[in-house]
Amino acid sequence: MKIEKDVIIVGGGPIGIACALECKKRNWNYVVIEKGAIANSLFNYPKNMTFFSTSEKLEIDEIPFISKNPKPNRDEALEYYRRVATANKLNINLYELVRSIKKENNQFSVSTNKHNYTAHYVIISTGFYDIPNLMKVPGEDLPKVTHYYKEAHNYALQNVVVVGASNSAVDAALEIYRKGGHVTMVVRGNAIGERVKYWVRPDIVNRIEEGSIKAYFNAEVEKIEEETISIKTPDGNVTIDNDYVVALTGYLPNFEILKASGITLSDDGRQIPSYNPETMESNVENLYLAGVICGGKETHKWFIENSRIHAKLIAANIESKIKE
Ligand SMILES: Cc1cc2nc3c(=O)[nH]c(=O)nc-3n(C[C@H](O)[C@H](O)[C@H](O)COP(=O)(O)OP(=O)(O)OC[C@H]3O[C@@H](n4cnc5c(N)ncnc54)[C@H](O)[C@@H]3O)c2cc1C
Repeated sequence: MKIEKDVIIVGGGPIGIACALECKKRNWNYVVIEKGAIANSLFNYPKNMTFFSTSEKLEIDEIPFISKNPKPNRDEALEYYRRVATANKLNINLYELVRSIKKENNQFSVSTNKHNYTAHYVIISTGFYDIPNLMKVPGEDLPKVTHYYKEAHNYALQNVVVVGASNSAVDAALEIYRKGGHVTMVVRGNAIGERVKYWVRPDIVNRIEEGSIKAYFNAEVEKIEEETISIKTPDGNVTIDNDYVVALTGYLPNFEILKASGITLSDDGRQIPSYNPETMESNVENLYLAGVICGGKETHKWFIENSRIHAKLIAANIESKIKE
């Protein structure tokens, strides 16, 4: 039997929750289907991470987000989005994976690992944190390699290579160094990323300059073995002792679910899904995109701060269609 809904929201991150609030206000029969916990991507962020945004910029539907410091940490953000979801009694099905979204006879069939649904409108807000951007080098599948950094304790007294120079890589390198790990950074560009939080950048630059953290610039990992790692540098290949590799080389959205639902992606390498920026409706009528998924491979383009507005744009558009 198919469960009938007006609106299905795929993904229960901050933006999916914002969409649910808009549906609830209008008394629509909606459900959020989330494959993990509430705000699952944030749940998987490093334990001690601090957002670069101040808490009011992460608020959804103007519900106050109170944090101890101007920029909240992961635990405070989880507290906030969880409380927004539970206090507003939002309809969220957790630990349910959406496998396909198909348009048939002017309505959508949404299949999950648990149920089959129909809906007039579907909002895809699946983010980008589930598929690591792989280095595609031998040894990347060894158990000592991770693409997700959680905390530093297990890296104390170990030889750790951190790959990347973004906020996540810099936070991990500094934290591991300060907990007694021997850190080497492998950076593809010629410097630490310009987008690194302005209050963190001098710290990493100084640690590299003083030699506390070794960094290879214009460099790439070539091969990972049980006890070593080989790095391609401008001065030739280097092989060093290595216990762990923390490869923070970015993540990719799940393009397959978008393509299979009929959404077209730009063919310029960026794979940006096509949508109307005024309504967030994709090229498939009544199928909407919200949040960071809208950027395709440009995963830095959209974040909570600038995409929380998507929920209101989508709800206004659906409302105008219902009134027609
Ligand atoms: C370390 C780090 C720091 C950041 N700091 C900031 C900051 O300071 N300010 C800011 O604005 N942004 C920040 N961001 C970015 C921000 O966290 C993301 O932009 C935000 O999570 C986007 O929200 P979203 O709801 O679009 O996607 P997500 O939060 O990724 O939510 C998507 C949800 O969809 C679920 N999902 C995926 N596929 C399926 C499926 N098939 N079926 C069911 N559910 C599915 C996922 O489990 C996930 O819960 C940061 C990101 C990182 C990685």
